[in-house]
Amino acid sequence: MMHDKRRFQIADVLSAEELVEKLVDHMWCCCQGFRLGGYLFLNDSTGPDGAQEYAIVRAVDRIQCESITFSWCDKEKALEYVNDVLAGKFSEPYGRVRNGIETPANHGRCGACA
Ligand SMILES: [Zn+2]
Repeated sequence: MMHDKRRFQIADVLSAEELVEKLVDHMWCCCQGFRLGGYLFLNDSTGPDGAQEYAIVRAVDRIQCESITFSWCDKEKALEYVNDVLAGKFSEPYGRVRNGIETPANHGRCGACA
């Protein structure tokens, strides 16, 4: 996690396909995160114009296990990555993230909100 001061508002997604559609086809403000299958996908990009890099974090202990730049992926590759994440194939110990993990209602607005 490069942006350790960032607070994230988390949206739940229901499937790997839905997450891939969101991550590959859309830009998100820098405080957006997604939750799927016990993992958090947190926007770790420098900005909306930069590469869309996401920190992959286990929700249960907040240990980051991978970092993936989705703007460099086509949907097929992105889906492969997401399925590998959900299968627990990434276990690189990047360390614990201490960012605020918030609901959209609790988040309100921050400096990274669009
Ligand atoms: Zn925000």
